[in-house]
Amino acid sequence: MKSLPKAIKETLDWVHARNHSEPVFIQAVDEVLRSLAPVISAYPDILEENLLQRICEPERQLIFHVVWQDDQGRTQVNRGFRVKFNSALGPYKGGLRFHPTVNLGVIKFLGFEQIFKNSLTGLSIGGGKGGSDFDPKGKSEREVMRFCQSFMTELYRHIGPSEDVPAGDIGVGGREIGYLFGQYKRLTNRYDLGVITGKDTAWGGSLVRKEATGFGAVYFLEEMLKTRGEGIEGKTAVVSGSGNVALYAIRKLMDLGANVVACSDSDGTVHQPGGLDFDQLRQIKEIERGRIRSYAERCPKAKFIPRKKGSIWTIPCELALPCATQNELTGVDAMALINNGCIAVSEGANMPSTPEAINIFHKKNILFGPGKAANAGGVAVSALEMQQNAALASWTFAEVDKRLRDTMAGIHGTCVHYSRKFSKRGNYVDGANIGGFLRVAQAMLSHGII
Ligand code: GLU
Repeated sequence: MKSLPKAIKETLDWVHARNHSEPVFIQAVDEVLRSLAPVISAYPDILEENLLQRICEPERQLIFHVVWQDDQGRTQVNRGFRVKFNSALGPYKGGLRFHPTVNLGVIKFLGFEQIFKNSLTGLSIGGGKGGSDFDPKGKSEREVMRFCQSFMTELYRHIGPSEDVPAGDIGVGGREIGYLFGQYKRLTNRYDLGVITGKDTAWGGSLVRKEATGFGAVYFLEEMLKTRGEGIEGKTAVVSGSGNVALYAIRKLMDLGANVVACSDSDGTVHQPGGLDFDQLRQIKEIERGRIRSYAERCPKAKFIPRKKGSIWTIPCELALPCATQNELTGVDAMALINNGCIAVSEGANMPSTPEAINIFHKKNILFGPGKAANAGGVAVSALEMQQNAALASWTFAEVDKRLRDTMAGIHGTCVHYSRKFSKRGNYVDGANIGGFLRVAQAMLSHGII
């Protein structure tokens, strides 16, 4: 930490001391604050108004119990969270994650990332995140419904179209959003479409929302490749994960002419050198809610590699899109990718690459698009969903897709602009952190000491 300015070092020490049991939150803060080192001398107000500490402390944090009944009639207890991190740019906005690994530190890291991501979209949305340690895996449809209803029975009093607007994340898709909205409507007697995003297109959802995060990560990748005179067509790609983000990153990569040869879930990887079969994958993951092991059973040309037998990142590719979860791509994985000829990484998940991996990507000068820029397409289309709800309008697929593509090109431009202006290192991580921060900082300064 020696070369860091004193104010950054002190803020980091302060954040470490008061959040020592939350390593992923500290990791996210660490990265952003280090990027801000060259900026603080150019804007004295940042230190004078103590913006560094203020942006690292959530405005409000809710923890509540979620009590529900399983199919055997047993009473189950989970923990629910909503962290309202920063509302300088608009109502708190960010998804809900239902996964057994969820705890306060995870939600704080996601909420913190969301502040900068949402700022980069240029839209009026603040940063927040929520979720629960509920594990949807193996639960029946009715159990998921009862859990969502109980979760919303507490959350409804803390959200609203101009207050806090949740959406999906890992474990929360269209089905869960439907149950959550239904319970909100029942409790409030209001049909507030703008209270939640990621809704079904039959009742207030936006076209392209489902596809947006994955499509956006590929549009960002396309922009990065263009800076080196490269394109997606004809390249081999590996996409980790097989959830909503991974699925639609794969779809878009294929549409643009890439050969997508592998994807994964927590059990392992499927590898199909001739290219994955998207329709079969979508059938298993989206319709049947199955595991990718069964993809390999149905597609004889695909091989299933159990998780213990090796990482997805050892499969040779030119384009890598980590779309599973935080810290899934380590320094060892980064070296494997580079040794196999990888030229670009675009993060569809939130913070999937460890700091060691990012360092290696930067040292080896490969294109690296960090999640808060590359995966901002999801929340950007959520904000477009809010706009359509407010206007009682519904735009066409082509209209929303064009706005998404323009937004991703805009975010890419912002990253390049700020990395050139401030960062000697000149990378997308610094560009995204600086560009995202400065817009929030300006709004915080305008609003005074609150
Ligand atoms: N969970 C998504 C993200 O990480 C989407 C959030 C939203 O649409 O509000 O950005």
